[in-house]
Amino acid sequence: MLTAIVGINWGDEGKGRMVDLLSEGCDVVVRYQGGNNAGHTVINEKGRFALNLLPSGILRSQTVNVMGNGMVVDLEHLCGEIASLREKGVDVTPDNLKLSDKAVLCLPFHKLMDQLEERRLADKKYGSTQRGIAPAYSDKYMKKALRAEDLFLGENALRDKIAALCEWKNLTVQKGYGEKPVEPAAVLDWLEKYGGPIKEYVADTSALLYRAARARKRILFEGQLGALRDIDFGIYPYTTSSSTIAAYAPIGAGVPGLKLDKTVGIMKAYSSCVGEGPFTVEFSGKEAELLREAGGEYGAATGRPRRVGPFDVPASRYGCGVQGADCLALTKLDVLSYMDKIPVCTAYQINGKITTEFPSGENLAKAKPIVEYREGFKRDISGCRKAADLPKAAFDYVKYVEKTVGCPVKYVSVGPERGQIIVM
Ligand code: GDP
Repeated sequence: MLTAIVGINWGDEGKGRMVDLLSEGCDVVVRYQGGNNAGHTVINEKGRFALNLLPSGILRSQTVNVMGNGMVVDLEHLCGEIASLREKGVDVTPDNLKLSDKAVLCLPFHKLMDQLEERRLADKKYGSTQRGIAPAYSDKYMKKALRAEDLFLGENALRDKIAALCEWKNLTVQKGYGEKPVEPAAVLDWLEKYGGPIKEYVADTSALLYRAARARKRILFEGQLGALRDIDFGIYPYTTSSSTIAAYAPIGAGVPGLKLDKTVGIMKAYSSCVGEGPFTVEFSGKEAELLREAGGEYGAATGRPRRVGPFDVPASRYGCGVQGADCLALTKLDVLSYMDKIPVCTAYQINGKITTEFPSGENLAKAKPIVEYREGFKRDISGCRKAADLPKAAFDYVKYVEKTVGCPVKYVSVGPERGQIIVM
């Protein structure tokens, strides 16, 4: 059984907690794209975990976790994440963690490039997390990246490869941005320090996954960020640099010949967005503060306050479509408890015309939200465990959302903890 869990919106929908929940009984959990530029928050009996690179299945002892070839991996960050999990008593071993030999390494000069470019852009910056993700993906497509398999190169071959890379990189860093050159010796030291301990996790993960699929194991593909951040179908250029779409999961995981059996879309009961770019439904002032506080909307990776707004029907329906979602988890419904009436953006107005389609480019930048209100439920629902426990207005809101986006809601979450979930 091959299942993908993906974001429907701008990311931060609560995918981590849903993967944590749905990974029960799974044999393998795979991350297929992205790097440590986003965080999944998981709260369970072992504590609170912010996972940036590691698949969320790492918190389950029976699960093998794969970091796929579609990822870009900062080895220093990975070492830190493994160490912090071990401190909390979570086992991370070469048996339960595998890194694809084809995964691209995100090097310190990628972070530097990210910072230099955001600084150059000044008030036109993209709002990058500055973790080096876009420069690492760029180098992948320039065919000038190191991959995990390069950790096994002989010393001379690795030194030559890094010297050539730095010579090329310095055309931009030194001659373009006018910064101090990147030193090959520093890159080598870094690789030794943080690559050395990671070598034991590097494997031909494609072979492992094909074997698992043939043996009819349960494999979960864990997406990072959401549909609206996809490099092709998101709010370009305010997207991430990889494909967050379920259709890419088999490719980025390393098993392009396989087809998914099911895609579960994770969609939040309201909207949030980190960084720059068009966000049609954005609240401001007190309204934003209240929702941000109620939802704890601060970035898991960066601590940045998130932009927030009401549920966005055109964006969410579009997200469900590009993800090919078979069913949905509607998360954080409990956060709306404080609202007398629940605002929902049902359509956009663009150049005086009303549309329910999700536009791109200039049209999206010009879109104004058409907002309607649903009845508030004004009750703490965090203790509800079945649909019948929900107040009528909350149940009606779920059904309304389901109808407007055109995809069944199978799960509703009413709190961050593992058990705070309703199966509809
Ligand atoms: P992800 O990247 O999609 O996994 O999302 P994040 O982890 O960045 O953001 C989700 C945040 O919401 C985390 O702090 C979760 O603990 C929290 N969360 C998830 N589901 C719920 C829920 O149903 N209710 C509440 N109140 N918080 C939730």
